[in-house]
Amino acid sequence: MRSVVEIIPTHTMMEGGGFTVRRPSRMGRVMSPFLLIDEMGPVDYGPGEAVGAPWHPHRGFETVTYLLDGRMRHEDSAGNKGELNPGDVQWMTAGRGIIHSEEPHEDFKKTGGRTHGFQIWVNLPSKYKMMSPRYQEIPATESPTVENGGIWARVIAGECLGTTSSIDTVIPITLIHVKAEEGASLMQRIDPMLNAMIYVFGGKITVVNQPRVRKNPFPPGLGVNQQVRNGELALLSQGDEVEIKSDLASEFLVLAGPEIDEPIARYGPFVMNTMEEINQAFLDYQNGNFAHSPH
Ligand code: MN
Repeated sequence: MRSVVEIIPTHTMMEGGGFTVRRPSRMGRVMSPFLLIDEMGPVDYGPGEAVGAPWHPHRGFETVTYLLDGRMRHEDSAGNKGELNPGDVQWMTAGRGIIHSEEPHEDFKKTGGRTHGFQIWVNLPSKYKMMSPRYQEIPATESPTVENGGIWARVIAGECLGTTSSIDTVIPITLIHVKAEEGASLMQRIDPMLNAMIYVFGGKITVVNQPRVRKNPFPPGLGVNQQVRNGELALLSQGDEVEIKSDLASEFLVLAGPEIDEPIARYGPFVMNTMEEINQAFLDYQNGNFAHSPH
């Protein structure tokens, strides 16, 4: 059974063209393979106020955008173009390099409204960092969801309550959005080879762990049953399943993936293994060896 080994609080900051995100206050190796878990908003824009992230490059990892409220437009140097509406997922493998823009849809910008969602950066092991860019879009209507005993889940990647995602991931990833009624319980199986974590963005949950003989005692300050509140990221111990009880109506993400046991060299939109590779990324970008943005 997996238990909570650490609670990481979030802080609120500005990103991109000036949109507000909630972000774990410690990142990097502790969240491996996730480099970033940004909750965008929720923010209510007036007419003309919505902002996004204009043209910028990425190399060496994947960006996953999941929209809950709002309407976004995206475009990239590989020729992909589309929009994101509530429930839609865009899984972009930057690989050796892509340039893209992530902006509010023109109509949404005019009217204003609520924007809420996630952008998650998934690191890639060195052997995949320079792979060809890849792009997957899963509209809400085609995204597998499951409902059972007060639990609703959208299975973006991995498996939940017998429902499997339709996405093809480079490394094994679990990414599940769960809405739980007060008192509902979820027993989630997670491959014991993967690191796992839970990000709560509404209500309050308890990660249940029945007392039993353990090899390793809990770190000080963390109980057997650990509460996780709105705006907290809970890192889980090893194990093959986790029991989550919803103390209030709650909303959370379950994330899992393999530990990438390699150095991380990170500069802005590039995430590689060494500073030499980062410098090369800048050179390649400046020399136009990433596909050019059409703007
Ligand atoms: Mn981006």
